[in-house]
Amino acid sequence: MSYETDIKETVDPPRYSLTFPIYQSSAFKLPEGNRYRYGRENNPTVEELGRIISLMEGAESTTCFSSGMGAISTSLLTLLKPGSKLVMPLDLFARSRSIATGFLREWGVKVKTCGTGTENVLKSLEDGSLVFLEAISNPSLRVYDIERISKAVHEKGGTLIVDSTFATPVNLKPLDYGADISLHSLSKFIGGHNDIIGGSVSGRDDLISRIDAFRRTLGTNMDPNTAFLAIRGIKTLGLRIDKGNKNALFLAQKLSEMNVFDEIIYPGLPEHPDHRIASRILKGFGAVLSFRVKKGSGSYDELLKKLKHIEAANTLGSVNTVISHPMTMSHRSLGKDELREIGVDENFFRLSLGIENPETIIEDVLNMAN
Ligand code: PLP
Repeated sequence: MSYETDIKETVDPPRYSLTFPIYQSSAFKLPEGNRYRYGRENNPTVEELGRIISLMEGAESTTCFSSGMGAISTSLLTLLKPGSKLVMPLDLFARSRSIATGFLREWGVKVKTCGTGTENVLKSLEDGSLVFLEAISNPSLRVYDIERISKAVHEKGGTLIVDSTFATPVNLKPLDYGADISLHSLSKFIGGHNDIIGGSVSGRDDLISRIDAFRRTLGTNMDPNTAFLAIRGIKTLGLRIDKGNKNALFLAQKLSEMNVFDEIIYPGLPEHPDHRIASRILKGFGAVLSFRVKKGSGSYDELLKKLKHIEAANTLGSVNTVISHPMTMSHRSLGKDELREIGVDENFFRLSLGIENPETIIEDVLNMAN
């Protein structure tokens, strides 16, 4: 395995600092500084982050954003117009779904939400559709066959955007499987320390330059301090994800054997509906697992209080294991029927594995089973 540290950070003249500096400047002297001109348009530290992400993704170009949602909204608004067709499966981060079913639909985009899983996406394709999906979905952890879907989308003259936040470039490079755009919330695994909010979009020059132009207009740009911390996070991404993959697989296998919960959902388990796809396209099965406690185990807040090491929070992807209760946290805006469609109920929890000793994590999770 090659780690992200194999990517060399640019040594920036004239002072030759080994770490790329934070260019905390809103503007650059003209005419010499015309390349960067104004901070909303361009910034050298943010540009360095984009260069590094392009290398990780195997992309021609990357542009960075104020948040994952900044990346998603700017991309969709660039590539869609009233009358365009957008296809998205139901299992998505709730705000990605709500920008489509709320704003974009009202604006005149023909939004089609389909059932979860590759076959449902394939059945929903129409000529010229833009397809937006998560490679590993939040929170139901379906794994989409990017190779098959991108082929089918392109045969119909469409475009495929893959939100690869849960997979990270360590486990999956969606562009290698034909996706047009690979997108990340950098606030999660890539940042990796619960200290930044950011997003990125990578792909071919022609697509990314259109999205980048609209980013400048919408002002969804990233600030240089965030870019610096994202670059720092990337230096250990390979190590962290390697450990997170191992911790998650260990926990999934152990908890399944122990039979203390109703269901363990993890793409690395043979019984997972997408295990074969996951084994083919993912280098590791990811550092997130979901599980359902047995009925009658207690209310979600009582169960969370039993944890001694793991914190409950509305996020994932850090060095520390974090638990969330999607029904009342990330997916609280969904109605009961929508939650049922993605398999989320009051007993459903999502666990993002950090780099701790797996024994510490399992001991704590088992507190929820007692
Ligand atoms: N994509 C996925 C899969 C997410 O889980 C999230 C947030 O949780 C986002 C995008 C949005 O990212 P951000 O919070 O950086 O706006």
